[in-house]
Amino acid sequence: MEFATFADRAAEIEAEPADLETVDHVRALFEESTGEIPEEDGADLERGDDELEIVARYVQGRVFPAWESTTLDIGPSSCYEAIARAAGTNVGPADVEDRLAELGEIGDVAASYEYGGQRGLGAFTGDAGGNALTVREVDETLRDLAAADGSGSADRKIDLLFGLFNQCSNEEARYLARLVLSEMRIGVGEGTVRDAIAAAFEVPTERVERALQVSNDYGRVARVARDEGLEGLDAMDLEVGRPVQAMLAQTGTVTGALEEWEEAAVEWKYDGARVQLHYDPDGIEASNAETRVFSRNMEDVTTALPEVVEFAEETLEVPVILDGEVVAVDGDGSPLPFQEVLKRFRRKHDIAKAREDVTVRPVFFDCLHAEGTDYLESPLTERHDQLVELLAEADEPDSDSLDEIRGLSLLWRTDDPDEIESIDAEALESGHEGIMLKDPNSAYSPGRRGKHWRKRKPDVETLDCVVTGAEWGEGRRATFLGTFELSVRNGDSGDSLETVGKVATGITDEKLADLTELLEPHVQTEEGQRVELEPAVVFEVGYEEIQSSPTYSSGYALRFPRFRSVRHDKDPADADSLERIERIRDE
Ligand code: AMP
Repeated sequence: MEFATFADRAAEIEAEPADLETVDHVRALFEESTGEIPEEDGADLERGDDELEIVARYVQGRVFPAWESTTLDIGPSSCYEAIARAAGTNVGPADVEDRLAELGEIGDVAASYEYGGQRGLGAFTGDAGGNALTVREVDETLRDLAAADGSGSADRKIDLLFGLFNQCSNEEARYLARLVLSEMRIGVGEGTVRDAIAAAFEVPTERVERALQVSNDYGRVARVARDEGLEGLDAMDLEVGRPVQAMLAQTGTVTGALEEWEEAAVEWKYDGARVQLHYDPDGIEASNAETRVFSRNMEDVTTALPEVVEFAEETLEVPVILDGEVVAVDGDGSPLPFQEVLKRFRRKHDIAKAREDVTVRPVFFDCLHAEGTDYLESPLTERHDQLVELLAEADEPDSDSLDEIRGLSLLWRTDDPDEIESIDAEALESGHEGIMLKDPNSAYSPGRRGKHWRKRKPDVETLDCVVTGAEWGEGRRATFLGTFELSVRNGDSGDSLETVGKVATGITDEKLADLTELLEPHVQTEEGQRVELEPAVVFEVGYEEIQSSPTYSSGYALRFPRFRSVRHDKDPADADSLERIERIRDE
C-alpha cells in the first residue's frame, strides 16, 4: 500500500464523527491493505512486517506493538529539524516551532510545507528513484531509526526521518509527523480496531477480543484473522516473554462485594509497584535470559529489579507468567512506603548501589500461565491454587513475623464481614495499604478496570468517637478488652453520649494489650463479659458508610468501622457530635 493511500484513509477517518462509520472506514482500510509482502522481499512476519500488521498499528498511532518495548526514541526537536531540512533551505527548526505555536498541532505544521525539492537526497531511505513511498518503506525506515544507537545516533535518526519527509506529499507528512510523535489522534481506539478486524475478516468480535488479550498485538491478530480465520485466532496463546496488560481494580465496599458475590476472595493490598514476571528455565525466546520483568505499562524493568530475577531463578522450575507487586522492605522483610520502591523501579544505572539503599521483594497474587497452560479464563481460586503449587517453597518465611513480604500473597475466602474486617485491620497493622476484594469465580481480564477486583474504598473521613463500653475477649484473648462501643456527643456540653457502633475484630494482640491497659482504669461496672467505661478515651475510626439504625441510641450505625488510632490529644468533649454524623449523612 502506498503511504499516500494510508494518509488519505486516515484523513477520512479523522473527518468522520460517528463511531460506526469509523469502524467501517477502518474495516475498508484493512481490506485494502491485505497485500502480503513476499518473504523474498525480506519481510519478517514474526517481526510484524506484513502490510496489514503495519496498518493496524499505524491507524492507532503505534509504530510498534503494545508489548514491544522498542521506542523510536526521537524527541520533538529532532522531528522539527527533519521537517525543516526536507522543507528546503530557507526553513529552519525555529520556523517549524513558530508555525507550531501558530497552528497548534504538528500534523498541520508538517502539511503546510512543500517537500521533495531535495529528492536526490532520498538515498537515505534506499529509494533513490523517488518512487511513491509505501507503508512498508516507512515502517522499515522507522525500525532502522529505532535501532540507531550509540554515538552519532541522534544525527542518524534525523537523517532517516529527513529522508522520509523528503518523499512526502503534504498529507503524508501530516500523518508521518503525528505517527512519529505519538500524536495520531484520528479517533481510532482499541475497540474500533477490534470491531474492524471482526468485520473485515468475518470473525466474532469476542474471539478477536480474546486473541488481543493474549497477544497484545493488534497487527498480528489482524493478520491471523485474515490468514487463518477463527481457528487461527483461537489457537493464539500467551507467550512467556510477551507481556500481557494487567487486570485493574475499581474502588468498592465490603457490603457491595458481599451482596454481589456472596463470598469474596480477600487479599492484602501491597503498597508497591505492579510487576509481571515471565520466566522460562530454558530461556525466553528473543531474549538471552530466563527471566523478564515488566511494569504495569508493559515496560521492561528487569535490570532494575535483580531481586525479582533471583527470586524467580531460585524458586521456579517451569515456565510461568505471574502477576504481582514489588515492595520495598526493611531488614526484617516488613514493607516500607511506596516512595521507597520508586527509588528502584525504573532505575537504569547504579543498580547495585541502589539495592544497598533500598531492598525490594516480590509478592505474587495471580498466575496467568504455567508450564504450557494458559489460566486467563480459569476462576481466580483455581489460578491461586496454581500459584500456591508453584510458590510453595517461597512461602517459607525467613522470620516468624507476619509482616514479612514473601513470594506468595495469601488469599482468604469468606462471606463473613467480621472476618474481612479483621483481615483488613491486620493488613493495616502489618504496614500494607488495606485489602483487595476479588470475585472468587472471575476470570483474568487483561487491561480491564472491571468489577471483579475491588480495592476497598479508602475512608473518606474518620470520626473521633468516645469509647463508652467494651467486652472481655475469649480464649487466648480472655485478658484483653475488645469489641469497643463507640459513642458521639449529643449537644454542646458533651454530657450526653449516644452510641453509634462497635469496633471489634482485627486489632492485633499487641494493640489490644495496649488498649486494655489504657481503658481498664476507666471500667465502671462489669456484667458478664461486658464492661461499661467512664468516658475518657477517644478513638479515631474509619468507616464505609453511616446507616440509620435502631440498634444504637444515636439512631445511626457506622458500617464497617475500623480502628485507626487513639486520639491521646483529645478529651471526650472534643469528640465528634451527632450533629456532624447527620451532616455527613446528608451530604
Ligand atoms: P490502584 O493502583 O490504587 O488502582 O490499585 C490497584 C493496584 O494495587 C494494582 O495495580 C496493584 O499494583 C496493587 N495491588 C496490591 N496488592 C494487590 C493484590 N493483592 N491484588 C491486586 N492488586 C494489588
